Amino acid sequence: MTVLRFNTAPEPGLVVVHRGQQYELITSQPHRRRDGTPTVVLSWQSRCATCGEPFIVTTGLSLKDPNRRCPRHHRPGLPANSKRKAYRRGGVHG
Ligand SMILES: [Zn+2]
Repeated sequence: MTVLRFNTAPEPGLVVVHRGQQYELITSQPHRRRDGTPTVVLSWQSRCATCGEPFIVTTGLSLKDPNRRCPRHHRPGLPANSKRKAYRRGGVHG
């Protein structure tokens, strides 16, 4: 498994290829985690592996299996017209 990791925020415009898919860095923004640790949020533009539509994926300084698909195709096997059913949750926990 390949994990891309940056020590410092890379410059916007950087293009990386992850598992044959291209990601272009759009912005890098400082961010603070819930525990107060400063980090960076990187926004990448890529193209959906299914339909080719451009989409944005945000990651931290390490890219571990970033999205390869647009939000519409993010979940394979989930038909686009069953959105309402997808929000149903089975059972009550607790
Ligand atoms: Zn798509």
